[in-house]
Parts: sequence; C-alpha cells; structure tokens
Amino acid sequence: MKHRMHPESLMMTYGYKPELSEGAVKPPIFQTSTFVFKTAEEGKAHFELAYGLREKELSEEQGLIYSRINNPNLEILEDRLCLWDKASDAAVFESGMSAISTVLLEFLKPGDLLLYSSPTYGGTDHFIHHYLKDIGVHSIGITADMEQDEIVRAIDQSGYADKLSLIYLETPANPTNAIIDIEMASDIAKIYSNENKKVHLAVDNTYMGPIWSQPLKHGADLVIYSATKYIGGHSDLIAGAVVGHYDVIKRVKTLRTFLGNMASPNTCWLLLRSLETLKLRMEAQARNAIMVAEFLNEHPLVEKVYYPSLLKEGSRAQKIYRRQYTSPGAMVSFDMRGGEKEAFVFLNQLKLIKLAVSLGSTESLAQHPATMTHAGVSPEDKLKFGISDKMVRLSIGVENYKDLIWDITNAFEAVAKMEQLEDLNLMS
Ligand SMILES: *Cc1c(COP(=O)(O)O)cnc(C)c1O
Repeated sequence: MKHRMHPESLMMTYGYKPELSEGAVKPPIFQTSTFVFKTAEEGKAHFELAYGLREKELSEEQGLIYSRINNPNLEILEDRLCLWDKASDAAVFESGMSAISTVLLEFLKPGDLLLYSSPTYGGTDHFIHHYLKDIGVHSIGITADMEQDEIVRAIDQSGYADKLSLIYLETPANPTNAIIDIEMASDIAKIYSNENKKVHLAVDNTYMGPIWSQPLKHGADLVIYSATKYIGGHSDLIAGAVVGHYDVIKRVKTLRTFLGNMASPNTCWLLLRSLETLKLRMEAQARNAIMVAEFLNEHPLVEKVYYPSLLKEGSRAQKIYRRQYTSPGAMVSFDMRGGEKEAFVFLNQLKLIKLAVSLGSTESLAQHPATMTHAGVSPEDKLKFGISDKMVRLSIGVENYKDLIWDITNAFEAVAKMEQLEDLNLMS
C-alpha cells in the first residue's frame, strides 16, 4: 500500500545513502573542494549536465564536480528542505541575505519594476533602495492594509506597469506581524504576466516557515529563508535557502555558481542536524509564545500585543491569517505604556531572556526594534508601520514558559518601581 511519509519522519534519512559512506548512519562532513572523476569520459559527462549542454538521460544523476557547484552535504540538505514546502528543488546559501540578493539580481534587470511589501527586513530594504536603485531598478512599496485594486492602481500610475517583473513579499512582517495576502499578490502577478513575460512572486517565509506556512500552495514561485533563524535554530550559524519549482531554482543556482555564495559543507552539516528537530522545536516555541502573548495581553503595563492569534475577530487580517498559517508563531511584539525609557528598563532587567537581535532559536531573545533591527528605517516609515519607541520584540524559545513569564514579570516590576520613584520625585 502506498504511504506518504511526513517530512518530520524523513529528516533523519532522506537523500542520504549510508553505503556510499562506509555505512555511517549520519552523513560525514564532506570537507573537500573537489571530486575525483573515475574516467575522463565521466568528467566530461558531469560537465555537460552541469552546464546544460545536453539533457539528462533517464537514469542519469548529476555527478559531483567541485564544491562551489555541488557537494553531498549541500545536496542532501537541499533535498530535505524541499519536503516541508513541497518544492521540486532548493538552493542553499551562505546567508539569508545572499539568498535574497541572488533572487533579486536574477529576476530584475535595469529598467524593471519591483513591487515589494514593507516593512521588510533591513538588509533587503537597503539592497532595494541602494544597490537596485543605483542600477536603475524601480520599486513600489505596499503595506498590509492595501487592497488589490489600490495596489493595481499604484502599479498603473507608476508608468512602469509593463516593466513589472518581480513581486517580493515578507509576511508576517518583522516586527509588527502584519500579514500580507499571498494569493492576492499571486493574482496581481497574473494580471501583469503575458506569453512573453512571467511576473514571479517571491516570499520571504523566515518568520513562520517552513512548518506553519507554505507559500508555494498560495501561488508563490520562490520561497526564501534566512536559515540562520528557525531552520538553524540554535544561534550558531548564518545561512539562507530558496525553494521552488525546478525551472526557477535552476536560474537561482546558475547565478549562485558564478557569485560563489553557496553554503559550506560544515554549515550544511549543522543544518542537517537542526532539521531533525525543526518541528519539535517550533511547536514548543509556539506553545510558549501563546502563553507569553496571553500573559502580556492582560498586563497593565502593556498597551498592545502584536501576535496573530490576538487579531480582531472577523477582520481581514484574521481571515488571511487563518488561510495562510497553521500557528500564530513564536514572535511576539508589544507596545509598553511609556516610551524608550520604559522599554530600556524592561530590556535591561531581563535575566533569562537575552538582549540580542535575531530570532527563531532555542533560547528566548528580546530587542528594541526602533533603535536596533529597524534603526535604519526613516521616522516617517516607522510611524507608518507602527514601529514606535515603546515597542519590544520577543523571540520565544523552548524554555519552560513559567520561567519566561517570571522573567517578564520581574522586568515589568522594575519599570513600575521606576515610575513610582519618578512620581515621588515630582511630588517632593
Ligand atoms: C534575518 C533575516 C534575513 C537575513 O538573513 P541572514 O541570514 O541574517 O543573512 C532576511 N529576512 C528576514 C525576515 C530575517 O529575519
């Protein structure tokens, strides 16, 4: 009887043949730059496939050549990453930013128009507004509250509608958890595609993926990850990935071969180890995050919590959330009563939760978006996106949630004490 295994059941074995590695149950680290060909004919055949000089024969596999092009650790990791997103191919990079910049460079040429969602990751934002702008790529930013007709109008009025070539989304947005409708973006891509030109849709799925969100099934062509975050999950490496259909990943991999920004065998090996516990970790993190978000939502020193399960009943955002995600995730942002001073007292008092940027790891982290991850965003944009001085962002880990709430409670008490002291000073 045919049985389809779940990705979590395949993460320990898929794509690896022990008989090729002395029976080792785990893939060794293939710490080698180059691979020996059995014969000159074999070397020739490997290059013909790698350079697309002829089609693959039915039973033929791409042979190993040189670790910038392929390496067993890279290939096993790419095979396993395909499983979560039900993708036909994947490309792994040395960082999330190299995955993002390679996709943007491959699918945009001077004169093209890029439609992108904002707020977006600071590095992505910088690449769009500096490098891409300098080489003549036009861009339009959209926000989560915009409806399809409003976006179509903005494209038509830009004067570059016929040049639209890539739609780039980051959802849920960092740090506000604002949710963008991927299916709506896919419809917009179709409107501007024709027989000569396909508008591609790329989604940065770092914030929820790959367990709770699979953008390919909502119409995305490319899904991008900072594998530094949940996929790596232990704050001990930097890496990135792009998954999608074979045809688009082939373009991404070709550019990667010439930029030379693939991940090293050692990083791939660490990521293979991480993937074995990805689902366990992310589920534990989300369970904790729900407890923390609900605690924050009831706290008198908290003005507002940004967490998808707390979205307003019946709102457009909640409808998209329910369609696109299977969990509210483990990223919780909140506004404190007060401003930067209160937020800083809170952050400085945390003991278990570490004060650091990055996210998705086993340990909980806290940071102040307005002066840290989003320090480069203009004051007008901060106001527009709701990134204020009173906002704190938490990435929830796998600790016991009671200890996290204890830590948060103590930090709030320090804030309350400071406010009482100030009131006394004012009276005296
Ligand atoms: C961290 C992050 C990136 C960049 O990834 P690096 O691995 O740091 O290069 C891109 N997008 C999002 C949403 C991120 O959180």
